[in-house]
Order: sequence, then structure tokens, then C-alpha cells
Amino acid sequence: MKISGATRVAGVVGSPVNHSLSPLIHNAWLEAAGVDGVYVAFPCGAGRFAAFVEGLRGGTVAGLNVTVPFKEEALAATDEATPRAARAGAANLLVFRADGTVWADNTDGEGLMGALAVQAPGLKVQGGPVVVLGAGGAARGAAAALLEAGASDVRIVNRTLARAEALAEAVSGPVSVFGADDAAAFDGAGLVVNATTLGLGGGAGPKVPFARLAPGAAVMDMVYRPLETDLLARGRAAGLIGVDGLEMLIHQAAPSFEAFFGQAPPKIDVRALALKALKASAAA
Ligand code: NAP
Repeated sequence: MKISGATRVAGVVGSPVNHSLSPLIHNAWLEAAGVDGVYVAFPCGAGRFAAFVEGLRGGTVAGLNVTVPFKEEALAATDEATPRAARAGAANLLVFRADGTVWADNTDGEGLMGALAVQAPGLKVQGGPVVVLGAGGAARGAAAALLEAGASDVRIVNRTLARAEALAEAVSGPVSVFGADDAAAFDGAGLVVNATTLGLGGGAGPKVPFARLAPGAAVMDMVYRPLETDLLARGRAAGLIGVDGLEMLIHQAAPSFEAFFGQAPPKIDVRALALKALKASAAA
């Protein structure tokens, strides 16, 4: 990769962010497409996010992906948001326009639906209850996308009930909220999406009473380190369809690439590259 005076810069901001696979994915696409661009990770301290975004107004950087814990703050820091970002109350994509304004979108839901389409192609979210575990930025994007896709019974399960209630109010529609220990949330569900951080780094995943789900249900984990999380392994062992977080990451990255660099990503196997990187970091 050659850096020129005209290199277009984009990146991902979060805390922590050095583990992110987004630079690997975007830089592989840039190289394959021969685009004069680069994608880097920007660590940002707590309380510094708004100032960081403010400093980039005017297009010093083409755009940013936003990850934990800044997605809700990201929406607040912008001038214009897509309806799906506004509905989610969270943004994972910011574009810095030359006129100094900042445009926000949320592609997490698109990433989720893309991953479901690839790894659980027979799944219909319209048919019955779907469960989202968590009530943070990613859960908001997921709930909004599921509603958009026609889900008629979205159940939010979260440790902090007030946060689940705020999510339900923000996305509006057929959404109900449950405490983390309320097993009734899972009755008859055809899909469970883990949008909590439980399971990250190989820890125990959220508790899901698989026997209460609909037969042939799918379990999706947004966590992708490790790729086969505790929840996915237990779900597959219970005969359920597993959908992994890496597939979602790749699908949420594609519209971001287009927004930063003005073209769709080239058709290369970034999943294989990301799997190799995940394997290497697990062995290190
Ligand atoms: P967030 O805003 O910080 O929300 C974290 C959620 O996890 C909250 O609902 C929180 O519950 C819950 N949680 C944290 N610790 C918990 C614990 N010990 N017990 C029970 N619940 C706990 O984070 P986010 O941005 O929504 O991201 C959530 C996860 O999705 C992260 O692991 C992130 O990496 C992943 N993600 C993956 C992709 C992808 O493309 N694969 C995209 C987006 C996000 P409380 O509300 O009670 O604190």
C-alpha cells in the first residue's frame, strides 16, 4: 500500500479498538480495488469522543466507524442521521462532509440481516417472536432492523431493565422487555441474537433456555472473539442453527466502505483473511 498526498483516510474509533478486524477488512478491500485510501484504528479516551469528532469536521478524515462504547454518543454528535440510525438511537458510521457537517448511519442492522441471510437462509423473522439480548448500541441497531424486516414480536432481554425500556421506546413498534432471568422471553422464539458483551474473549455466554425456543431456531452471536463462542457452541449442540459475529462484521463493513470511498467493496474473500487473523491472535 502506498500513501500519497491525496490518500483518503477513514477509520474506526472506540475504546478499546486495537483488537478490531475492521482495518484488516477495509485495507484488503482498498488494496484489491486499487483505491488510494487507508483505514486505521483510533483509540479514544472516555469523555474525549465529542471533541474528537468535532476536530474532524470539514473532511480531514473521510469518515469513521464507531464501536463500543460510543455509538449512542456518535448519533448525538452529528447534524443529519438516516431514519434507521435515528430509530436505533445509535450510529456506527459517520461521514465528514466538506461543508463541515457530519452525516450518520447505522449499518449494524444491515450487517445482522446480511449474516442471517447467509448462515440461516431459511429463517423468517416475521413468523414469530425474536429475542435480542442486550440493550446497547448494537441491540438498538438489531431491534430496528428486525422491525424493519417485518418482525411482529421483538423481545428485549437485558440486565438493566431501564435500558431495555429506553430501547423499546426509541425504536417503537411491537417490542416487549424482559429482565435477564425471565425465561418466558424465549418461549417459541425462532431467533436469539446476543448483542451483549457476554462471551467476549472466551468467557461464559448469556444463559438461553434452548428447549423453550421454536424447533429449528437460530442463535446468532455478535461477539466474534472467539468465533465459536460459548453461546454458539451450546446452541449448535442443542441442534440450533448458528450464525457468527464475523459474518455480521463483514456485512456491516460493506456499506461503510462505499460511504468512505465511493464504491462497493471488491468481491474478495475477506472472511478467509479475517479467520486467519482470528486464528493467529488466538494462538498468540
Ligand atoms: P454496549 O452499548 O456497551 O452494550 C453492552 C450490552 O451488554 C448491554 O446490554 C449490557 O447490559 C450488556 N452486558 C455487559 N456486561 C454484562 C454482564 N456482565 N451481564 C449481562 N449483560 C451485560 O455495547 P454494543 O456496542 O451494544 O456492543 C455489544 C456487543 O456486540 C459487543 O460485544 C460488540 O463487540 C458486539 N458487536 C458486534 C458487531 C459485529 O459486527 N459482529 C457489531 C456491533 C457490536 P447493561 O445495559 O445491563 O449494562
